Order: sequence, then C-alpha cells, then structure tokens
Amino acid sequence: MDLDRTVPVSPYRPEPRFAWPEGKRCAVMLCFDVDGETTALSEDLALETRRTTMSQCAYGPRVGVPRILGLLEHLDVPATFFIPSWIVERHPKMTDAVLAAGHEVGAHGHLHEKLATLSPDEEAAVLDRSLEILGKHLDAPPAGYRAPWFEINPGTVDLLKSRGFLYNASLMRDDVPFLHENGLVEIPGQWMLEDWEQFAFNAEPAWGFIPEDCDKVFRLWWREFEAMRDYGCCFVLTLHPWLSGRPSRVQLLERLVGAILETGDAWIATGREIASWVKANPEARREIDFDGGKGGTVA
Ligand SMILES: [Zn+2]
Repeated sequence: MDLDRTVPVSPYRPEPRFAWPEGKRCAVMLCFDVDGETTALSEDLALETRRTTMSQCAYGPRVGVPRILGLLEHLDVPATFFIPSWIVERHPKMTDAVLAAGHEVGAHGHLHEKLATLSPDEEAAVLDRSLEILGKHLDAPPAGYRAPWFEINPGTVDLLKSRGFLYNASLMRDDVPFLHENGLVEIPGQWMLEDWEQFAFNAEPAWGFIPEDCDKVFRLWWREFEAMRDYGCCFVLTLHPWLSGRPSRVQLLERLVGAILETGDAWIATGREIASWVKANPEARREIDFDGGKGGTVA
C-alpha cells in the first residue's frame, strides 16, 4: 500500500500492547452488526408501518450481507456477525449462510433492546430468548456478545458469564482485550471505527448525518489501523450491513482489508479466536498505567 505516513520517522517506538500469535503486530476483528429492521423497531414498534424506513433497514440482511459474504470469501478473511435474534427469525437463510461460510455468529439482543431500559430480570429474559433462537441455528452456544448500542448495565458482565459466554465486545476503556474479574474476556471497541457515524441517514425519523465520502472514511480508518498496528493494539471495526453493504462502501472495505492484508503482520481473527488467545495467554497483555507502564520506549 503506497500511503504516505502522517507520523514522521522518529526514534520513539511504542512497545506493543499485546503479544499476538505468530509474531503478528496487531489483531483485527471485523464485526458486522446485522441490526436490519430492528434498527427502527427497537426505537419504536410503530415504525413497522413506515415502509421506506423499514426497507432501508432490511437492505442489510437482504442485500448487504450476501454482498459482504462474497467479499470476505474473496479476501479469505473471517468475521464476526452479531445478530439480534428477531433478525435470525426473520432472515433464517441469511443466518445459515453466514454460518456456512465459516464466520462466527454472536448474540446481539432479541429486538436490539437498549439494555439501559431493562430491569435485570428483563435483561436476563431477553438474553435467554436470544440464546434459545440462536441455538436453533448454531451448533454450539455463541461465544460472544455485543450489546445493542454498545451500552451495558452494571450486571451485564456477570449475566454473560453465568450464561457461558467467553467474551463481551461492548466496552471502550482500552484498545487491547482484557479480562474481567469474573474471567469474561472483553474485546473493546470505539466509536471512531463504526460506520453509523459516517454513513447513517434517514429523513424521518431523523437519523445520522450527511453521508461521508468513502475516501475520507478510508483515510480515517486506515490512519487508525496504521497507528494501532504501531502500538500493537486490537483494531475492532464495526459495520452495519444496511449501511456498509452499499456498493461503494463494500469497495471501501475491500480497499481497507486489502491494505491490512498487504502489511503481512496483522492477525485477522474472529472474536472467539481473539478471546481464546487472550484467555490462554494472560501474560501477553502489557499494562499501560501510572506505575511506569507508559506503553512506549525510545529505541
Ligand atoms: Zn446493533
């Protein structure tokens, strides 16, 4: 990839935050949150009659996912699909196609419920319902969970552990995975590496902003990848097929993943693979803190 670098060459070289498998410098997790129609319905069930709004959302599971699956197959990279169980029921062939392609499927609520609006009992009931529905398609219970809207409650981490999850991918307090006290792995994300902020738009109800230019978004994401690679981080990209399944954005993804592959030292893995590595290699994590771990050294 012939991209000029924004960071001048200097003797300052960050220590990698994590020791990744096979000497790779960073990890990459490609996440597709297949919210589809639940994007609207979780806001207001009355939106069911708004045919255009609903159809824009349905574009994701109907057109975006097959197109994305084709690209992933072409690039030969694995991904993680977090799918609300309402979408699994509405689009069973899509779910099965994701699984047949060898990708990971994780839990993402039933109707993409905002956890903050649920009592602890309601939250547990929603999670159990989603697991029951996912269980009809998956050979084994899902290893991973992504909270709708990325927002969890104080009891969510223990709830996930009690239901046998290996990892959560909802918090943002680090840029490499960490272990919760109960042993659940956290794979943190960040809003900068999300497509909603770049591409979401709906007239009424009003969502999002004026959609961004794909070239600008490529630069935003590539610069962050480049720097996260320098720091040995875990690059977690979160895309919604109703947004990123549009043609120019699938080509943006092709360009981005192609450039990542070209570096030759990024570990592109599913959430389950990353969490399993973290669990088996707790010493791989280098702390960054005020006790001397500044995350960098002068070579
Ligand atoms: Zn979502």
